[in-house]
Amino acid sequence: MKRDYLIKPVINESYKQISYGSGVYLYDKDGKKYLDGSSGAVTCSLGHGVKEIIKAMNKQAEKVSFVYRSQFTTEPAEKLAETIAKLAPADLNWTFFVNSGSEATETAMKIAIQYWQERGQYRKTKILSRWMSYHGITIGALSLSGHTDRRYRFVPLLDENPVISPPYCYRCPYNESFPSCGLQCANELERAIKRIGKDHIAAFIAEPIVGAAGAAITPPDGYYEKIREVCDRHEVLFIADEVMTGIARTGKMFAIEHWNTRPDMIVLGKGLTAGYTPLAATVVSDRVMEPILSGSKQIMSGHTYSANPQSAATAQAVLDYMKDYSLTEAAREKGKYLLNKLQHLQTSSNMIGDIRGKGLLIGIEFISNFKNKQPFNKQMNVTNMIVKQAQLNGLLIYPSAAGIEGDSGDAVLIAPPLTITELEMDELVSLFKKTIKEIENQFGISS
Ligand code: PMP
Repeated sequence: MKRDYLIKPVINESYKQISYGSGVYLYDKDGKKYLDGSSGAVTCSLGHGVKEIIKAMNKQAEKVSFVYRSQFTTEPAEKLAETIAKLAPADLNWTFFVNSGSEATETAMKIAIQYWQERGQYRKTKILSRWMSYHGITIGALSLSGHTDRRYRFVPLLDENPVISPPYCYRCPYNESFPSCGLQCANELERAIKRIGKDHIAAFIAEPIVGAAGAAITPPDGYYEKIREVCDRHEVLFIADEVMTGIARTGKMFAIEHWNTRPDMIVLGKGLTAGYTPLAATVVSDRVMEPILSGSKQIMSGHTYSANPQSAATAQAVLDYMKDYSLTEAAREKGKYLLNKLQHLQTSSNMIGDIRGKGLLIGIEFISNFKNKQPFNKQMNVTNMIVKQAQLNGLLIYPSAAGIEGDSGDAVLIAPPLTITELEMDELVSLFKKTIKEIENQFGISS
């Protein structure tokens, strides 16, 4: 028997090999076709094999693919940073490029700490975060992540974060409902700051709409306005982790723009190059850069591939393409269409408890009992069953987590490329419906 050399996500489990992709479809070595209903890991926002992007990538490769960041800058990196500054809200005018969302989170953590150091506040080093969150797999970013399964093995290496509850209205941590709850989940930030002491806290980080750890948990209106107000009052920076939600995914260029809130930093990844090459970024406000510019004039971080011209040119082509084809507006409109179709499906399902999200980032949470919203037994691994069954049916969806106990509940994300057509969305819904019916049949709960 042929042995494995590649360490796969689950070692020795068989994974299909993909041969090529075209539009919203991927084709494996045996010729099987998959509708990419999750853009991989909510990444391939333009779909596969887009000619304009490939052309721009080739053009840059012919010029220069790599120069080292401390020796030279390049036109693609400078142009991309300027493009991001023009797209970003408020005074978020500076960008530091890295290679993955995790590194972008780490960079934001370091910049937050450095900002306070430059202002002479050396004790402000803690970064607060929420449960049911994911900010990356590296130790610093994982420390901030409220994703219990991913933290579990590394707890001894992790900082004590995260500290506050998510704005999870479907299972309100306070057993209240909006608006009479008075946004207690946002008030929790203030209580945490008071307990720990604002003199120790550099920043608070949150995903505007939760991704992997909560399947598109979307806060009620006023939540982020309150968070901003609390951060301002206690001199705490606010970092929006938009690795999954940024670059038009939710129908705005940045998801935080759905609310009237100005972050001090935005963390980007995934959709920035739409998966064509690795690139991520930490976008920083003038206000945060000011003491650094007049102080040490250097961000104490960086990687060999930071700001590499190949990825910068790719991201520039992606952002140009998005503008040319009005994909932010498309995500908004298509999101409404898809959400509506999925909500219709919910009425005939015996396991879909909640559907939520914005634009083309839609989360679906599964429950075993409609009266008390009881999740399925964790041992059943229902999320995995659904994702695998969908894949058998030729549909790719993204496994997520749900449930107030952290990751004890089941949920998936549906987030197709923003270029998906109405016909392809109909196909997605019909494949998803087939999958859910098959799982319900297996559980003996079909109606
Ligand atoms: N933040 C968020 C919100 C994410 O969704 C992810 C990836 N799922 C990350 C950070 C980490 O990004 P990467 O996998 O590129 O390190």
